Amino acid sequence: MPKTTRRPPAPAARTPATPPAKSAKRAITAKPKPAAKQAAPRRGKSPRRWSAAEVHEAFSRFAEANPEPKGELEHLNPFTLLVAVVLSAQATDAGVNKATRPLFAVADTPQKMLALGEERLREYIKTIGLFRTKAKNVIALSQKLITDFGGEVPNTREALETLPGAGRKTANVVLNMAFGQPTMAVDTHVFRVGNRTGLAPGDTPLAVELELERVIPAEFMQHAHHWLILHGRYTCLARKPRCEVCLINDLCRWPEKTVS
Ligand code: SF4
Repeated sequence: MPKTTRRPPAPAARTPATPPAKSAKRAITAKPKPAAKQAAPRRGKSPRRWSAAEVHEAFSRFAEANPEPKGELEHLNPFTLLVAVVLSAQATDAGVNKATRPLFAVADTPQKMLALGEERLREYIKTIGLFRTKAKNVIALSQKLITDFGGEVPNTREALETLPGAGRKTANVVLNMAFGQPTMAVDTHVFRVGNRTGLAPGDTPLAVELELERVIPAEFMQHAHHWLILHGRYTCLARKPRCEVCLINDLCRWPEKTVS
């Protein structure tokens, strides 16, 4: 029987599981990062895999600490969520939010985005990396939404992945946040946490995504994406993980964790 009863210090001593509260219309997503640029999984001897009881214990703790995890990428509706996620590739949520606040005030539908036009859109998002390509994609996806989907954001992966600038991760974020589907979007944080902890080792974001879907109990899947992102962003930091205040430090398999 695996050890699942030893709990780390009291929750009050842990890092906050969420950033400062946002409005109900605000939410979080991931920042895409090409697989090749993400930290490679640890090589060598594989650590012992998590048992089902340990996985359940970890997500029970996440759920207890933060029952309704929210995010930081601001949006007003499924369309602005889709646009924000497309803009967030290789950019920070804070940087995207700064640009999209005034943008979404004038263009929160595909029709308004088309009316705004690519040139003026570029002006709104010029502080975001790759803004020229992204402006082109946002105009093209707005046009496609109107032409092929009646101006609505579709609720299937297949349809979402046909939109310019939208890949699997974007589709997963939109399906999860806009349509309540239990998808797992793997960004740089989720990829790191999955590999480092041994919860879901994988060489690619897709491998980690599929493994997380396999091991996480269905009851936790709706929020699992946000719990893992927030855990990676605020506790299991890339350079200096805060193992001493980590909610799952007794379960983590990382040989270099700073607690025993
Ligand atoms: S113990 Fe450390 S390395 Fe493991 S999940 Fe927690 S913060 Fe990350």
